This record gives sequence, structure tokens and C-alpha cells, in this order.
Amino acid sequence: MRALRSLSREDWKNIYKNIPRVLNGAIKAGGSSVGDFFQVDGSEGKYGRLHMVYGRGGEQCRKCGNIIKSVKLGGRTGSYCPGCQQ
Ligand SMILES: [Zn+2]
Repeated sequence: MRALRSLSREDWKNIYKNIPRVLNGAIKAGGSSVGDFFQVDGSEGKYGRLHMVYGRGGEQCRKCGNIIKSVKLGGRTGSYCPGCQQ
């Protein structure tokens, strides 16, 4: 994880290149069961367990160990790591 403003043009190209890899990984894991999203057979998608910050407010960051913060943004709850993402 990095602060958005610290990303270079090269970093953005890397992000763009890796989006399909990350999405394919998420699809292989059966997606993310967040809120009321589940598989058609009612089973849980396993990708949510691999999220770095999403839905992990109050838990420890997997990278730096800081406690992940939750903020309300436009009626939704967002999460971020104050150590890696500021
Ligand atoms: Zn962190």
C-alpha cells in the first residue's frame, strides 16, 4: 500500500497492467462476500479474506501493523491504513 500522491507515472502503468491479474485472482477465489453478496449456491466468496484494508476497520494492517481506520464517506464506510496510506 502507498499514498496515492506518491505514485509515479510508471507506478500507474504498473497498476493498470496488474488490474486483470488481481481481478482474475478475485474471481478464482469466488469473489468477495461483503454485505449480502454470495455465490448463487449461497456459499461465501473467499476473496474478502484477502482484502488488505476493505472491511477491516479496527484490525491490524497486514503490512505495517497499524490499526486500520474506518471513515464515513457519502453514506458508505471506507477503510484505510494511517501508516501506509497517508
Ligand atoms: Zn499499514
